[in-house]
Amino acid sequence: MNQEYEQLKKTVLACTKCRLSETRTQVVFGEGNPQGGILIIGEGPGRDEDLQGRPFVGRSGKLLDKILADCGFNRTNHVFIANIVKCRPPENRVPLPDEKAACIPFLMKQIELLDPKIILLLGATALNGLVDPKLKITKVRGQWMEWNNRLVMPVFHPSALLRNPNLKPETMEDFKKVVAKYREVIDPKHISENC
Ligand code: SF4
Repeated sequence: MNQEYEQLKKTVLACTKCRLSETRTQVVFGEGNPQGGILIIGEGPGRDEDLQGRPFVGRSGKLLDKILADCGFNRTNHVFIANIVKCRPPENRVPLPDEKAACIPFLMKQIELLDPKIILLLGATALNGLVDPKLKITKVRGQWMEWNNRLVMPVFHPSALLRNPNLKPETMEDFKKVVAKYREVIDPKHISENC
């Protein structure tokens, strides 16, 4: 990645713009292939992520990796994973409005520099924080949207699937659309065994 991206990373890793800096262990900047074409955005780091400084490494992360693998995707080649806030909210609470407002500009800059062809929003916090605070994830999941001239799809957060496994079939239907779109806009030869 270029110098601007490395500078952004340096700035974020040292950030104290909001109160989450006081309780975090590590900033979670994001992980994956910056040029993979798919950007996945979650809510914020949890306990495991805070300790390791990596996104989606706990139970939700394992499920996310499994879904991605079913689609023929992985972190090394196809996706970059980030969050609405880059530091863990205490007790895994939802990030507060001023914390989101402080952190989202970093994400916006990341989006500009990564220039993903496809953005997936995992759950309500990502959907409401980035696109529209009034939209309901249960109503719009699995639908392609245009946002800032970018192709965006909200899907259920993996933690919702862990709480309610009945949501898994719908989610796999959503990811089938992602695979189809990936073939359309990024790699027509993409191989996926289960999607
Ligand atoms: S959550 Fe974002 S804005 Fe707040 S301290 Fe961490 S990096 Fe900075």
